[in-house]
Amino acid sequence: MTDDAQGLPVLRARRLASLGFRHGFSTRAGGVSEPPFESADFALLRDPDRLRENLRRLAEAVGFRPGDLHQTRQVHGRTLLVADGATEVMTTREADALVAEPGSDHAVLVRVADCVPVLLADPSSGRVAAVHAGWRGVESGVVPAAIRHMNGDVSCFAAAIGPSIGPCCFEVGADVAERIASVSSDAVVTRRGLGKAFVDLRAAVRIQLRALGVPDEAIEDVPGTGSEGCTRCDAARFYSYRRDGDASGRLVGVIVAR
Ligand SMILES: [Zn+2]
Repeated sequence: MTDDAQGLPVLRARRLASLGFRHGFSTRAGGVSEPPFESADFALLRDPDRLRENLRRLAEAVGFRPGDLHQTRQVHGRTLLVADGATEVMTTREADALVAEPGSDHAVLVRVADCVPVLLADPSSGRVAAVHAGWRGVESGVVPAAIRHMNGDVSCFAAAIGPSIGPCCFEVGADVAERIASVSSDAVVTRRGLGKAFVDLRAAVRIQLRALGVPDEAIEDVPGTGSEGCTRCDAARFYSYRRDGDASGRLVGVIVAR
C-alpha cells in the first residue's frame, strides 16, 4: 500500500493501518536532498536544513506534528528509551528501540540503510515502538526487548517489517551466520560454497516475534520479501549502505502512539 498522491510517499502496512495506527516507511522519493542522497535522506547529521524539510514532509504524509517526533543515536545495541517530549535531548542519546506511550501522540522513528526497521503496535493500549534491528540488534534481542517492554497481550499485537537488505544480498561470514541462526533458526541461513552464507534477516526478526507470541498473520513484510523489499537490489526506491557506502542516504520507519 503506497500513498503517493502528493508530497513524500510512504509505504504502509495494511494491518497497522486498519487498526488506526498512523505510520509509514519512507523511500528515496519525495524529499529535497541532493545527489548522491536524492531525494528523501533522513541521515541525522548530514544536512540540517534539508533534513528539516524532509521531516516536515514525512510528518505531513504520516500525520503527526514535527514537534512530536522522537529519534535517537542508533548504535546497534538493545537499549530502549521511552519518548518523553524532550525530542532535542533524545537525538543525543544512544538507543535502538523507542517506545511511545498511549495517548501521547508521540511519533517514534528509526533510520536504516539495509538494517531492518520494525514497527510494533499494541491495539489494546495504543502503545507503539520503533526498532532498529541490524544483525547485531537481532543477536542482542532488541526486538524481543521492545515487545516485553510494551507489556501487553502479545497475541493481539501487530508488527511491520520495513525495507531492508534481502537474503539475495546479505552475505556474511560463517561466524555471523551462526550467531544469527542461534537466536532465530538455521532456516534463515543459506550456505553457498566454503564459508559463504546469505542470511534472511527479516525472517530472523519474524521468528523472534513469533517466539514471543506475535501471530504470524499479524507480521507484515513491507513492501514484500526477498528481492522485492531488498534495499540493495532496488536502487531506484531505496538507499543501501552495502551498495553505496558513505554515499548512502537513510530510510526511516515511523509510527505514532494512539
Ligand atoms: Zn537483494
